[in-house]
Amino acid sequence: MAKRDYYEVLGVAKTATEAEIKKAFRQLARKYHPDMNPDNKEAAAEKFKEAAEAYEVLSDAEKRGRYDQFGHAGFSNGDFSGFGGGTGADFGFGGFGDLFDVFFNGFGGLGQQQQQRRGPQRGADIQMELDLSFEEAAFGVEKEVRINRWEDCGDCDGSGAAPGTKPVICSRCKGTGQVRITQSIAFGRFETVQTCDQCRGEGRTIEKPCPACQGRGRAKRSRKVKLTVPAGVDNGSTLRLSRDGELGTRGGPAGDLYVGLRVKPHKLFQRQGNDVICEIPISFVQAALGDEIEIPTLDGKTSLKIPEATQPGAVFHLRGKGISHLQGYGRGDQVIRINVMIPSRLTEKQKELLQQFEKLERDDQYHSRGKGFFEKMKDAFIG
Ligand SMILES: [Zn+2]
Ligand SMILES: [Zn+2]
Repeated sequence: MAKRDYYEVLGVAKTATEAEIKKAFRQLARKYHPDMNPDNKEAAAEKFKEAAEAYEVLSDAEKRGRYDQFGHAGFSNGDFSGFGGGTGADFGFGGFGDLFDVFFNGFGGLGQQQQQRRGPQRGADIQMELDLSFEEAAFGVEKEVRINRWEDCGDCDGSGAAPGTKPVICSRCKGTGQVRITQSIAFGRFETVQTCDQCRGEGRTIEKPCPACQGRGRAKRSRKVKLTVPAGVDNGSTLRLSRDGELGTRGGPAGDLYVGLRVKPHKLFQRQGNDVICEIPISFVQAALGDEIEIPTLDGKTSLKIPEATQPGAVFHLRGKGISHLQGYGRGDQVIRINVMIPSRLTEKQKELLQQFEKLERDDQYHSRGKGFFEKMKDAFIG
């Protein structure tokens, strides 16, 4: 029986592209899968073999060229890695499904993986932490940070080869980065494509590595990065600087730089959302008589009027004296909590004055606030 033309077998034109050939073969392989042809396994397997052989030749530029020039006469059986040749190989159908899977994974799956490995790769992200003062977080700040990242080695311009030498085409894979491996299985042989182990898929090897980078082509370099910390960030906020991470390979984009922020606690202020909480101690005399006192704010000192008869725990709000809203406009408040201090040591003179005060005020308004309480207590006990 005369051998059919390979293009005819796959049903493609002589000018078909690699992709068209691959697609045609995949369609045929599915069509002739034994599971799809339960009543006609043997004939289907023959068709599959025929298609696989045609694909093996037409998917390989060198073999395809030879076929175009010499036709079938350009090949002997020994040229085929598995499916096509198969002279004398005893084809059992039990393993056909396995073969089919291996074949598909071998050509389709692996091929894609390899493209990924050989294609552009994004650089890794870099993470770092930055300490900020309370005020820097509140108002924002421009900072300069140092990062260490791998950059092209200056001595070899990133090639990895010692100055004056160049990387050479890998002798094992001839620069393709891939090697074909023929394996024998139960009923024949098949080929898989694997990453070349000599050059790790790079297609090139370095005979004399660059001493500065030990042939890596890259060296750790310290670099300054300018950072704009926006007003209103908090402890635990993270800034992302896109493309300031590690460089990509084979033309891939750089990774990102993530800066985690740590805000140092303030001696006087505490943060609550965008409000700044501040506790101010005043004397009981100031609380009773009122006063005007100086208080700290994020913007500097300001004065606060303490009204007469201010009670312990009284709260005052200074609008807009808090922390900037990270998104949007305006600032939170400064919240002032009044802490009334009772003197722990009094002079004899002070004690005398206070005792006089107590006598004078005993039945007066001074006790009226507490009176209600003491009367309620009396009621409760008599009940
Ligand atoms: Zn180098
Ligand atoms: Zn290689």
